[in-house]
Amino acid sequence: MAIAVERFLEIKKELDAAGVLLVAVSKKKPIEDILALYKLGQRDFGENYVQELLEKQPLLPADIRWHFIGHLQRNKVKYIAGLCSLIQGVDSLALLDEINKQASKQHCVIDCLLQVHIAQEETKFGFDEAELAAVLSQIAERKNVRVLGLMGMASFTTQETSIRAEFRQLKSMANKFAHYFPINQTPIVSMGMSGDYSIALEEGSTLVRIGSLLFGAR
Ligand SMILES: *Cc1c(COP(=O)(O)O)cnc(C)c1O
Repeated sequence: MAIAVERFLEIKKELDAAGVLLVAVSKKKPIEDILALYKLGQRDFGENYVQELLEKQPLLPADIRWHFIGHLQRNKVKYIAGLCSLIQGVDSLALLDEINKQASKQHCVIDCLLQVHIAQEETKFGFDEAELAAVLSQIAERKNVRVLGLMGMASFTTQETSIRAEFRQLKSMANKFAHYFPINQTPIVSMGMSGDYSIALEEGSTLVRIGSLLFGAR
């Protein structure tokens, strides 16, 4: 399966113009496809599974910035702690504590996003607004993690109005809680995937996670 070169260049141009970071989601895709995008200049890649990331990372260029975008189990943090540029989808205080602990052991600071539950489905992970406020009020004590913003996934639906409303809600939480994030940069709002990234851009996304549009169906 070849990567969609023309589409990548188009999307990249659109995102660059908007100042939005493209994370190419490469889960279940072979290293040849990742390398092909790398050769076109792509540096940020997203993976969902610890084992898969551990297998691929040593075979690929060292300047790739890996984003962990899947559900991360606490007992696996130690394997990827030194290797990720951004751990998105932190969905419990216990997980944040474990990341902080592993980062402290490795004498580094790990950048993270907190995942907010904006979709209607029960199955998607993340905090509600009250839980988010509670966690944010405690992050300053965790010196080895840096929470740069929020991540969310919209409902799996073709209803544009509900997707838009969910993205809007995430953006407004990022603004509301902006004082908890580093003051010298706008909070990261990671929202938008292959099917809904255009709506996400209109609603103020600063980072999109796009897989199948670039790499083909999984
Ligand atoms: C798989 C995945 C994506 C990419 O999905 P596509 O529809 O292929 O663009 C984005 N975000 C998360 C959290 C994912 O798990």
